[in-house]
Amino acid sequence: AAGVPAVSILRILMEEGVMTNINAVMDPELTELVAADLGVDIDFVDAQTLEDQLLATIDEIEDPEESLKPRAPVVTFLGHVDHGKTSLLDKLIGIEVAKGEEGGITQHIRAYQMENDGRPISFVDTPGHEAFTEMRARGAGVTDIVVLVVAADDGVMPQTEEAIAHAKASGAPIIVALNKIDLPGVDPLRVLQDLAANDLLPSEWGGDIEVVKTSAMTGEGLDTLRETILTVAELNEYKANPDRPAIGACLESQQDADRGVVTKVLVQNGTLRVGDIVVCGDGYGKIKAMTNPLQPSQRLQEAGPSVPVNLIGLNRAPSAGERLYVLEDIAQAREIADTRAVQERADFLGSTGFQAATLENLFDRLDGVNEVQTLNLILRADVRGSIEALEKELTKLEHPEVRLRILQKSVGGVTEGDVVLADASEAVIIAFNVVPDDKARAKADQLGVEIRRYGIIYKVADDLKLALEGMLKPEQ
Ligand code: GDP
Repeated sequence: AAGVPAVSILRILMEEGVMTNINAVMDPELTELVAADLGVDIDFVDAQTLEDQLLATIDEIEDPEESLKPRAPVVTFLGHVDHGKTSLLDKLIGIEVAKGEEGGITQHIRAYQMENDGRPISFVDTPGHEAFTEMRARGAGVTDIVVLVVAADDGVMPQTEEAIAHAKASGAPIIVALNKIDLPGVDPLRVLQDLAANDLLPSEWGGDIEVVKTSAMTGEGLDTLRETILTVAELNEYKANPDRPAIGACLESQQDADRGVVTKVLVQNGTLRVGDIVVCGDGYGKIKAMTNPLQPSQRLQEAGPSVPVNLIGLNRAPSAGERLYVLEDIAQAREIADTRAVQERADFLGSTGFQAATLENLFDRLDGVNEVQTLNLILRADVRGSIEALEKELTKLEHPEVRLRILQKSVGGVTEGDVVLADASEAVIIAFNVVPDDKARAKADQLGVEIRRYGIIYKVADDLKLALEGMLKPEQ
């Protein structure tokens, strides 16, 4: 931020006898010393103070019951690649993105609101369950309802199982779209069985999961899917207060050559208006214009709860999942955003002191003494039999204060998605006779997520038992 190359700083530090690397974070004394050497003025800003005071108080404002009005449910589609997420959403909103996209892979987050006889639904389409969970990890759990798309010809696939784990961890109700029902020779019964095996018991079998047979090709079942979404929404009575300054979440943001920073935001509470002063991540500014993401030529003056908008006016492009707040004072907005920009750079360069969940620090993380705590686990193993054997062992580990909860169990190597889920859910990953792939390993290093590798079942059980008893020695 001082416009000084990192090497100059490293050189000064070396002269001072401090051996370090570019990834380290300097303490304040050292920073002052370096700044003096460089002849740079520095000003320590307590990053947390202003945020705490302003943004936290905004978060804490309780909306009086009578101010709450029904809002549209926010729906996200998850599922195995090629099972028809994009096609279904296209069909529901009446445009065709799937066709034009290379390989049919969803590149960007799409967010649209649809009206159905005056009953709106908002769709937020993330490129995959990793993105879904990453947003959640940043505090922007925007999704109310997950539509899990399962192709009738393929059934529940590994990515479907991952998506189920991510959806369940989010706590959002799940509706299954049993898609491609138009294909000849499909066996819906088998898919229902697969779903039941994944703890999604279909309502027709007495469970609470609505399974809607759909075809993005013929349009079959789409009305039912819409109705089911609205029914689930009615049951959950999603509400917000449109008469307060907006709080929202950045879905994605990019630098546009002509318009500057364009930020896709989902308004979560209150009403966002052109002219509002906003801060979002490390970006701030006065909103110059807002458009409807579905019809970019349509300018909007305001956007209420659950409405997605593209807005112009931020100085920097915030990351997906950053919360957006409306402030009164542009100087305060600037201070928060600039402080965060500096902080982000420091985080990027070094450790933040953040403690990820590991078995060793399990007990430090347990705060309440009487409350039953949960240790979240993600199990990955070479074969189904190993998972079953592991689960059997784990059920024996009864503990009065700590409960084991398996968020995800599947056959195969540890994936990036597992690591993201572990990070968001403070889970520990148990890799039994499998290894993480390169992307997963890199992500785990970056996020500080623990992947514990094992080859012997009783070792897993022993370690967990020790962890539960709070006497586990760090892994060698
Ligand atoms: P996504 O990866 O889950 O977003 O899947 P897409 O929407 O890109 O669909 C993958 C492929 O399946 C495309 O070739 C679609 O045309 C096809 N597809 C999607 N839905 C249906 C359906 O209901 N019936 C049939 N027959 N094909 C479908």
